[in-house]
This record gives sequence, C-alpha cells and structure tokens, in this order.
Amino acid sequence: MTPKVREKLQQLQQQRSEPFCAYVYDLVALRQHIHSMCHALPAGCELFYAAKANPEAPILRTLCEYVDGFEAASGGELNWLREQAAGKPLIFGGPGKLQSELRQAVQLGVDVIHVESLTELRRLQAIALEENRTVSVLLRMNIALEGIGGTRLMMGGKPTPFGLDEHDLPAALREIARSTHINLRGFHFHLMSHQLDVDNHLQLIRLYLDKVRSWCERWSLDIDLINVGGGIGINYLEPQHHFDWACFCQRLPDVTQFSQAQGWTLRFECGRYIAAACGYYVMEVLDIKKNLGEWFAIGRGGTHHFRTPVAQSHNHPFSLLRREQNAEWIKDEQVTLVGQLCTPKDVLARQQPVVALAPGDWLVFSLAGAYAWNISHQNFLMHSPPEFIWLEN
Ligand SMILES: *Cc1c(COP(=O)(O)O)cnc(C)c1O
Repeated sequence: MTPKVREKLQQLQQQRSEPFCAYVYDLVALRQHIHSMCHALPAGCELFYAAKANPEAPILRTLCEYVDGFEAASGGELNWLREQAAGKPLIFGGPGKLQSELRQAVQLGVDVIHVESLTELRRLQAIALEENRTVSVLLRMNIALEGIGGTRLMMGGKPTPFGLDEHDLPAALREIARSTHINLRGFHFHLMSHQLDVDNHLQLIRLYLDKVRSWCERWSLDIDLINVGGGIGINYLEPQHHFDWACFCQRLPDVTQFSQAQGWTLRFECGRYIAAACGYYVMEVLDIKKNLGEWFAIGRGGTHHFRTPVAQSHNHPFSLLRREQNAEWIKDEQVTLVGQLCTPKDVLARQQPVVALAPGDWLVFSLAGAYAWNISHQNFLMHSPPEFIWLEN
C-alpha cells in the first residue's frame, strides 16, 4: 500500500461507521507507472493498452496521455473506447467477431483489425468492399514454441481457438493478394500471459521476429507492423518480483536489430501489467469465528466484486488497516479471509497469519486494478456494489 493510499484509507476509516467496501484507485501511481513504462520503451516501439484488463473511464483517461492507442476485443469496447479516448488509434481483436462488429470497426476507421481466421478474413473483405474502404489488418498467428518456456496461461504454442495455424498462412496470403480492400500490415502474436521472466520474453519475441522474417522472405511480403501482444505478468505471490520492464526494454534492441533495420514497428498491447498495481479492494471485517478448528474472517463484499483470487486460484496479497482502539478478537492466528456469499468458494486468501484482528478492521487487497471488478459475477446474491474511490492529485 502506498503512503497516499494508506493516508486516505485511514482518513475514511475515521469517518465511516457503516461497514466499508470499496475499490480504491491511485491514479497518481498509475500515471507514474505508465509514464515510466513508455519512457523505457526503445525507439521503434509502441505501447497500446488492452482495455479488457480494466476499462473504467478514469483509468482510460489517465492512460490516454501516454499510450499510443487502445485494444478493443468487442463491439462494446470499441464504442466505449471511441467515446472515452476520442482520436486515439484503436485495434480491434479477439475471436468470434460478429459481422456487425467488423462493420462497426471498418466504419469507425480503426487503425488495424487483428484477423483470427480465414472465415473472418473473407467476411472482412466482403464488408470492406461494401463499405468501399481499405482495411489494414494483422494476421494473428499461433505457432509452435520450439523450446521456449511457457507460463500459467497459454493462448498459443498448443491447440487453442486463437489465431491462424501456420499451415493456413499461404491460403490467407492468397486471399489477401486477391482482395481489393485488405491491406496486410503485418502479424500479431499473443501466445501467453503471466510472463514473469525477462529472458523468456525476449526469447519469445525473438522467435516471433524470426518467424515473420522467414515468412517475408518466403512470400516476398512488404509489411511494417508486428504486434507482439501483452502478457507481461504481475507476481501476486511475491510482489517484489514482478516482471522487470526496465531491464526488458534495455535488452530489447538485442533482439530487434533486424526488424529495426527493416523499419518495422514493434507494438505491445499490455493490460494486466499496466493496470493491476493502481487498484485496491477494501473489505471491512464483519465477523470472526472459529469453525471446526479454523478461524474465518468474514468481510463486507467478496468474490462477486473481486473474483481475481478465485480466477487465479491464489491467496491474494493484502494488508491490514486496524481500526484505532479496536480491541483484538484474535491474536497471532491463521485466518481464512472470506466474503458474504453463500458458497465455500468465496475465499480471498486462506490461512493467513495475522497479529491481531477484530470486526471493524479493514482488509486491503492490493494488485486489484486488473481483471478484478470487471471479471466478477457482480449480481450473484444481489448485494450492493462496492464504492469506487479515485485518488488524484
Ligand atoms: C487480453 C489480451 C491482451 C492483454 O493481456 P495482458 O496479459 O493483460 O497483458 C493482449 N492481447 C490480446 C489479444 C489479449 O487477448
């Protein structure tokens, strides 16, 4: 927890008597983080934000000044981004795009559409023809990983619904060569998420670039853009060991010499790594009880607001904000932190050591800014939503 967040929460704790439950976002920290991410990026690289990680308006507004554009993965996100980030370049990606969504993207004049299949390519060509507009595309590819280490969440390197198989590439290139309104700008890769290892990620990008180079040579392609996806990881269990973005950026030119010489732009589309650290989910402890030998603390809220711990099957990191002069109910115990839902799955962290705890204290879960509120089953049990608190200068 940053001093600014702690101070704000302490102040709120003194004012509030009703059990508290909120998302708190530190937009100053987000601004600093995205600024340093963009600053570290070598020349010839771009950074887009994948809005699905957290599409809240103040987040987009804060990022807008720094990122090169935004990635949308649905017609809904496209409309929302057009509204919230007017004038910024947009990517439209994702599997199973509706024809109406493809048309919407063409009409909005997005920067580039990431094509996921041959079917989609044909549909897009027909739409571009009807709309009489030239559409820039990247072909999303799934390739074998050839000895490169994987992560906990793989979108490629094995059979998945994402991207084109290399075997379909000749057919896709033939379609594009025939089509009058499709402009192939290059290729898109997003093969893994939760990447924590700089060496692995550099190797992965080297593989992408080698592949693209071989395709360009083989089919004499003239391209200018390679999107190497997102997937930069957050270390929820050892937050001091997140992916080292600065070191990664410093070493990136070693693997991009060839693509730089070709004048290819290397584009990143990160979500989690940008947004996770600025968000906190806060629950007030309502009750503490011992059940068949184990302690449980029941907080206001739960995984219907904050599904991340369940989605990741981990114990989410948290700090305690004890209420002043609150006598402790338990001391030096292991406690399982749960929410208000009537299901044993509503667990945010299991068997966590606490020095002292009592109802009225606050549990502050950190790293709650990405894939948190917006991936949660918010209507289950019809509890009221959390408050949203935005800290700005
Ligand atoms: C979700 C997604 C991203 C962002 O992934 P992170 O792991 O949040 O960085 C980028 N590209 C594509 C295609 C995605 O589906």
